[in-house]
Amino acid sequence: MTSSVVVVGAGVLGSSLADRLARSGWGVTHVEQFSPGHVRSGSGDESRLIRSSHGDDELHARMSRRALELWRELDPRLVSPAGVAWFARRADGWEAASERVLTRLGIPNERVDPAALFPSVNADDLAFTLLEPEAGLLRAREGVRALADRAVAAGAQRVTAVARPDGERVVLDDGRVLEADHVVWACGAWMAALFADVLELRITHQDVFYFGADGRWAAPDVPGWVDFDGAAYGMGDLDGRGVKVGPDVEGPGVASMSAERRNSPELERVARAYLAHRFPALAGAPLVGSRVCQYELTPDERFVVSPHPAYGGRVWLLGGGSGHAFKHGPALAERMESWIAGSEAPEACFTLGDHRRHDVQLRTAGTKL
Ligand SMILES: Cc1cc2nc3c(=O)[nH]c(=O)nc-3n(C[C@H](O)[C@H](O)[C@H](O)COP(=O)(O)OP(=O)(O)OC[C@H]3O[C@@H](n4cnc5c(N)ncnc54)[C@H](O)[C@@H]3O)c2cc1C
Repeated sequence: MTSSVVVVGAGVLGSSLADRLARSGWGVTHVEQFSPGHVRSGSGDESRLIRSSHGDDELHARMSRRALELWRELDPRLVSPAGVAWFARRADGWEAASERVLTRLGIPNERVDPAALFPSVNADDLAFTLLEPEAGLLRAREGVRALADRAVAAGAQRVTAVARPDGERVVLDDGRVLEADHVVWACGAWMAALFADVLELRITHQDVFYFGADGRWAAPDVPGWVDFDGAAYGMGDLDGRGVKVGPDVEGPGVASMSAERRNSPELERVARAYLAHRFPALAGAPLVGSRVCQYELTPDERFVVSPHPAYGGRVWLLGGGSGHAFKHGPALAERMESWIAGSEAPEACFTLGDHRRHDVQLRTAGTKL
């Protein structure tokens, strides 16, 4: 018997799920207020890193490895095979834990000389550099559109409207009411207001900056990189956008999703200082672009993939990306299908409840602005 589902939200999480369920034969209605991968969504940037390192957390390492296969299956051009380099400031810190997990799981990784990876790099403060050669860069916005379009090709009905929950029903701003066997709310940062009664999400302002550099800095020749203890990440110049630097410093709280989007001068200063420190030849490189984004932070950095406590498994919440969900989208959707269908219990760490503890770091060590 086929089941029906309404998925609200066409960011990476909602689009991955709509795609997965439509291809499995579910009757899917996919609702989005703007368009898949639009500029204000968390998924709406040109690029995202995909890496398996997650410290000593094996669940996320496995999931992102599976996701890499699924992204390639969707369209190999979505993945730039640049690799991701981890700048380890401690001999036995987060990266060493990652190294042990990756090796145990058979995921390629090696300690390398960073001077062989970057045209100019300062490694004075590094204990070692760990390269995940099979990790890389995702063409993010294109990827979200590809997922949403494949869902439609598989039979999903896409609806452009603002939705609000009304018990188990979905009420659209044009007055229509949608009902289905299941409803999944995958509304990114907008979830904080829609489900304030059950969800604990902090929405923070985050910026990424792009700097002009010569052709030697182009991806995939130059890899993605993360400095866990330095709370920064970035990548070489992908598709001519510029060398990307993202301070993983927690920005100020976002009061309204309708606010104007202007970069924070403090975060720009942090990005420039990092660039000058790590890649000395790029000190003073011109800023050629920037973007404002937001994190939807759960208290423990783990996503929320959970039945709503009130509706007996008919209404689900999918979100709380916590600054690291993009890569996992298709793999999370694959697992979620059996959770919604009831054939498998949901992963306990993603469910709502007071069991959540801040006992992992899944992005970087982070700092507050
Ligand atoms: C600066 C930055 C860098 C990041 N870097 C990485 C990275 O390198 N790797 C990685 O894996 N992750 C990264 N992330 C995290 C990742 O991008 C997000 O976790 C992910 O994109 C969130 O996806 P989502 O589908 O939950 O939300 P969104 O992409 O925000 O999608 C939610 C959608 O729901 C729609 N919606 C909301 N409310 C309604 C409504 N009422 N009715 C209809 N539609 C609605 C919105 O319009 C939106 O399209 C980064 C995030 C940021 C901000």
